[in-house]
Amino acid sequence: MDHKLPEELEQLRRTVEEFAHDVVAPKIGDYYERHEFPYEIVREMGRMGLFGLPFPEEYGGMGGDYFALGVALEELARVDSSVAITLEAGVSLGAMPIYRFGTEEQKRQWLPRLCSGELLGAFGLTEPDGGSDAGATKTTARLDERTNEWVINGTKCFITNSGTDITGLVTVTAVTGRTDEGKPRISSIIVPSGTPGFTVAPAYSKVGWNASDTRELSFDDVRVPAANLLGEEGRGYAQFLRILDEGRIAIAALATGLAQGCVDESVRYAKERHAFGRPIAANQAIQFKIADMEMKAHTARLAWRDAASRLIAGEPFKKEAALAKLYSSTIAVDNARDATQIHGGYGFMNEYPVARMWRDSKILEIGEGTSEVQRMLIARELGLVS
Ligand SMILES: Cc1cc2nc3c(=O)[nH]c(=O)nc-3n(C[C@H](O)[C@H](O)[C@H](O)COP(=O)(O)OP(=O)(O)OC[C@H]3O[C@@H](n4cnc5c(N)ncnc54)[C@H](O)[C@@H]3O)c2cc1C
Repeated sequence: MDHKLPEELEQLRRTVEEFAHDVVAPKIGDYYERHEFPYEIVREMGRMGLFGLPFPEEYGGMGGDYFALGVALEELARVDSSVAITLEAGVSLGAMPIYRFGTEEQKRQWLPRLCSGELLGAFGLTEPDGGSDAGATKTTARLDERTNEWVINGTKCFITNSGTDITGLVTVTAVTGRTDEGKPRISSIIVPSGTPGFTVAPAYSKVGWNASDTRELSFDDVRVPAANLLGEEGRGYAQFLRILDEGRIAIAALATGLAQGCVDESVRYAKERHAFGRPIAANQAIQFKIADMEMKAHTARLAWRDAASRLIAGEPFKKEAALAKLYSSTIAVDNARDATQIHGGYGFMNEYPVARMWRDSKILEIGEGTSEVQRMLIARELGLVS
């Protein structure tokens, strides 16, 4: 048992840490203020191979795994969560479903450009009438046997990476039939950007993640070839449960990064800022607060790394992924609140990174399964739900 990163991953961590400090930190505040997608930063992330981290080289990837992705996400989110979520959604929700469930042809068609960052992928599951209860999907897809095409109708909301200039596709979940008991058969279908009838609404005005892209999508008799079905017809529900289980590890790594970023900023500020003739860091109340923040970030890191190790080893990881997501998102909000407090009035000013971290932290308790949903999953894994 060795909890230290192996040299290759430590090298990756240092490279992303440097990139986050030298390239992301000086520029991201302006993009955030303007609610603008940071194309130049994302292009650079693509050149570094970050979008291909967990995919094999034969599809244009870097030959790494989910652990490598988590390391990169944590370092990015220490500085900024908008770029981190762009990477997380592009990999875990955009490219991963194609890698896990796609045909060889679909993988060859999409993965090289998704891995290079030339294109971004998105995953459309949530609908205006419900996200947690994804089985209640209302979007439909009917197979037109005359033309051998799926005809899709419905609306998806809050979809990350779905409306940028480089978005190549959205995989949508849709009801494609009913079982004998009348339950919906849900399938996943790839819809390329620009398909007639597929409209992307203007970007939402959000509380946080302001330099990331989130949109509502409408499908009005959208026709795509039957071959755009991802995996088996009627298996979409099982597929997205798997995708979300994995995605939770990535979100947990991102939340850990935000929590650690709050520690970094607080240590720096507490040493610089003077009150009553001495640095505020000289007060034990401040020291203890930051010590607790560090304890939480460290524990969250152990939790996501444990879940990622289980996933990579092919072991069950559902409970550990839910624990890591629940814990890391909870403490990310705690640390963001405490870091803001340590910064006093400056913590309420957008030019300070902690203000951005505060605004970016709340969504971590909501996206890719709310905290309540994580508790439901953990309770089920403990055998408390029949
Ligand atoms: C910025 C952003 C980006 C997003 N990106 C994507 C994306 O790329 N793709 C995508 O598909 N979705 C995306 N989402 C959607 C996100 O995953 C959902 O918002 C989330 O899953 C919650 O769904 P909901 O908003 O419909 O809330 P609801 O499901 O309506 O839940 C409302 C509240 O009720 C609680 N609740 C619901 N059921 C229960 C229960 N049985 N017991 C106890 N409490 C319960 C919930 O925990 C929550 O607190 C994104 C959302 C945001 C805000």
